[in-house]
Amino acid sequence: MWAEPCRVLVLTSAGCAAAYLALTLCAFVRNRFLPRKRLDFTRAERLLIVAAHQDDETIIAGGTMMKTLAKGGEVHVVYTTDGAVKRRLGPGAAVQNCVLQREREARACLTSIGVPEVNISFLRYACETGLQEPDNVAAAINIVARHIERLQPGRIVAAAFEGGHCDHDISNYIVAKAAGIAGYPRERVFEAPEYNRYHLSEPILRRLNRVLWVKFELRPRFLFGHGGAMTLAMSRKELESKRVMFTHFASQDSGALATRFGFADQVRPLPPYRYAEAPFNPARCPRHRLVRLIRGKARSNPFYGMAYRDYLRLYAALEERIPTASPKREP
Ligand SMILES: [Zn+2]
Repeated sequence: MWAEPCRVLVLTSAGCAAAYLALTLCAFVRNRFLPRKRLDFTRAERLLIVAAHQDDETIIAGGTMMKTLAKGGEVHVVYTTDGAVKRRLGPGAAVQNCVLQREREARACLTSIGVPEVNISFLRYACETGLQEPDNVAAAINIVARHIERLQPGRIVAAAFEGGHCDHDISNYIVAKAAGIAGYPRERVFEAPEYNRYHLSEPILRRLNRVLWVKFELRPRFLFGHGGAMTLAMSRKELESKRVMFTHFASQDSGALATRFGFADQVRPLPPYRYAEAPFNPARCPRHRLVRLIRGKARSNPFYGMAYRDYLRLYAALEERIPTASPKREP
């Protein structure tokens, strides 16, 4: 009488084991063979990184900075915000202490790889709020344009316009506009992904990773729709050095930063964004539609820290106000 239940149990167990092994194999193959165009640096050049927060420089260009310095090049970093999240810190001295700590951490990180302190600039716009003001954005664009004119960098790297943190996106906008004003060639402006709520597979793979033996690599991903993505060729030692860079950011959970972002840098040439249309339309994003179905409208913001309608409003206001000069193309 136990024969049938036993048979079902054995078959179910075998099916689960086969599915587990198949998923593990998928993770291994995906991690090992995901096609990525490789990028390397063959000459010394001057590199300008425009980061929103003190740790974004390592996320978007940790390897690029180290390789540039190793080739005898120069690295300059501009931070657009003060990195202090007021909604968490509340009023008072905590904000100022946080600003100072984040600047100390950034200096320690950058000088540890050989960037001179004099090459590090802090614009100190208030994190999450300062660059929601068109006046401040216009001023930041002018400052970054002056940096570009003065430095004449061989390459500029900024965070991608991806619907991740609102400060990352606006810093991308600032770089695009500043490059236009400075007459800087578009081919030499690059963007790098950090995080977004766009890809449907990501939350699924993250949950699978909790039980899998070989885990899916969840490196930052660009939004679909623009080509040209490249991954920096980094050795194991260089990757380890990038992870060590994160140890300087104690205020930001350096261990979590290294786990989440300790991958080879990825960049692509800055696409000709229509900023006033926001990074993507939530109504056409399968992940957003699914989250909205499960969590309801109130808890399904597709962007971090900024509602879709606020994106449309802010960038429309900026596009009206900021000069439209776009970066020129190199002959
Ligand atoms: Zn950031």
